[in-house]
Amino acid sequence: MPIKNKFGELFENIKGWRHHLHETPELLYDTIKTSAFVEKKLKEFGCDKVITGLGRTGVVGIIHGKKISSGKVIGLRADMDALPLQEKTNLDYASKVPGVMHACGHDGHTAMLLGAANYLAETRNFNGKVAVIFQPAEEGGGGAKEMIDDGLMDQFEIQEVYGMHNMPGLELGSFAIKEGDFFAAADTFRIKIKGKGGHAAKPQETIDPVLVGSNVVMALQSISSRNIDPIKNVVVSVCTFKSDTDSFNVIPETITLKGTVRTFEKEVQKTTKKNLIRLSKLIAESYGGSAEVEYTEGYPVMKNSAKETNLAAKVAKAVSGRTVVNAHKIMGAEDFSFMLNSRKGAYILIGNGNSAGVHNPTYVFNDEALPLGASFWAELAETRMQEN
Ligand SMILES: [Zn+2]
Ligand SMILES: [Zn+2]
Repeated sequence: MPIKNKFGELFENIKGWRHHLHETPELLYDTIKTSAFVEKKLKEFGCDKVITGLGRTGVVGIIHGKKISSGKVIGLRADMDALPLQEKTNLDYASKVPGVMHACGHDGHTAMLLGAANYLAETRNFNGKVAVIFQPAEEGGGGAKEMIDDGLMDQFEIQEVYGMHNMPGLELGSFAIKEGDFFAAADTFRIKIKGKGGHAAKPQETIDPVLVGSNVVMALQSISSRNIDPIKNVVVSVCTFKSDTDSFNVIPETITLKGTVRTFEKEVQKTTKKNLIRLSKLIAESYGGSAEVEYTEGYPVMKNSAKETNLAAKVAKAVSGRTVVNAHKIMGAEDFSFMLNSRKGAYILIGNGNSAGVHNPTYVFNDEALPLGASFWAELAETRMQEN
């Protein structure tokens, strides 16, 4: 079963929706226009219920199958938010909002799920109910969690939930999935190092927090090489090193480091956190300064459950023979992990071909993937909830 014929017919529509969304990107929970667009489309398609305001700006469409007596309800989820960066693609449908861009392809995810909703509401070749879930704030805001806290799973009696993301570097027309741990847990840290400021030409009268901070950055890299079992996975990245001055000749009073820790195992996370705090404080003290550390646990590990992963892989293979079923683990994070902690389900990657990476200002979602992704969603619903 390759791409459903219907998505050949719907291709221009789905592409048009994506280009429209691409021109009008919105951040985090501020997906006001995007949510309104999704709501309008779901109503036009004839969804049996369209619910708004879950997780502030989330939207859910409920589509009944020919029979709903089976009581089965599955959730299909797309994310809607964009990123705070200036687009550099030169597309004729490039972002019209300065400094905001759909650089992670969530415009494509939303368009594909709308395409599937259109098809499912028209054909209804399944038994049970499909909940199409459009969530805000995937990019750091935990929109999935807010929707769950607002009753997403219980209110609609969702039993299983599935998510999909595009993947640059993965061949166009293919999918990749893996059972068990798939995406890492992502924590953040902020280290404020206090020294003693002064004239750059009189360093002997100062406690230089820049030097202390540089030593901390170096030492944090020893966590992965010396404190954690080399067989296990951990990333510690310092991404911000900020002085409280902007000068050529002032040694600052304080500097701030910010970064992220990625892990798969609780024990590794605990050891990393403990060592990060210890190294920061003791290094600062050894130079005569001090360090305050804030460590925040963020998105949990995203884990695909076995049966649902097999089903999604089977469906992906039916849509495209080029499906990888033992994909590698990814140190990136996804707030779909909250949904998979709440219900069984699976998350799958769809190839975006040879494009720039996501979060890059030249990234472009590949329109050719749209009918494949929409077909995957529709086929998943029909396979999981076969009539009879
Ligand atoms: Zn992203
Ligand atoms: Zn994304």
